[in-house]
Amino acid sequence: MKALRGFLGGLAALLLLASPVLAQAGLNLSVRKDFGYNNGSQIRGTFSMSVSSPESLRSVTFFIDGKQVGVASAAPFSWQFQTTDFADGWHQLTATALTAGGQALTSDARRFEFISQAQEQSGMSRIIVPILGIVAGIFVLMIGFQFLAFRNRKREPVPLGAHRSYGIRGGAICPRCGRPTPIHLTALNVGIGTKLDTCENCGRFGLLRPRPLEELRRAEAAEVADARPDAPVREQSAEERLREQLDSSRYDEMK
Ligand SMILES: [Zn+2]
Repeated sequence: MKALRGFLGGLAALLLLASPVLAQAGLNLSVRKDFGYNNGSQIRGTFSMSVSSPESLRSVTFFIDGKQVGVASAAPFSWQFQTTDFADGWHQLTATALTAGGQALTSDARRFEFISQAQEQSGMSRIIVPILGIVAGIFVLMIGFQFLAFRNRKREPVPLGAHRSYGIRGGAICPRCGRPTPIHLTALNVGIGTKLDTCENCGRFGLLRPRPLEELRRAEAAEVADARPDAPVREQSAEERLREQLDSSRYDEMK
């Protein structure tokens, strides 16, 4: 009998100890960003507190720094707020709920730092500046690679009118020498339809704009036409004169 009483007492003590823990675990407070900035515990903008619970809830009350800020009496039990409605700095967010059975539940506290616009901007730049730095670094490395790859490359002069193979990146008309050149795989994209590449004709580095193949083929043909001097009026050689005479005499015979 004594043992049983001891056992019951122990069980009661255990339940008493456990009950506040159970009550807290029964109400989960979460904070969600609706619009704005967050970086870890630092937040700025429009956020919502909401609760979830295995219990069926009748109402939920939301608190910031222990001060009641909102009540939700229907699902979803949530409450939206602007961080700018509160002072900058650390705040404690909590919620209490009343279950359908009349039990009071309390959530664990969530701590957030409501930051100022200046802090948000410096936070953003802490994220963006290194990214920009990395991008700039890659860009410089690629340009350096281009120079190394093409600086000492022996360039065979491309014959005028040569039928170039333009590959998957196509070709362009070099703005410096005006001749068609293939765009290399290593060419850098520096905007829509503009590549930074080396011309195969003049070897100079510059901005190339990919052109349609027909235009490139026309440019190849134009190289030859441009290079051919206007046909001079030549004096006929003795041989030519003789051949012409023979041709015309043959013609006469046939008549
Ligand atoms: Zn060129």
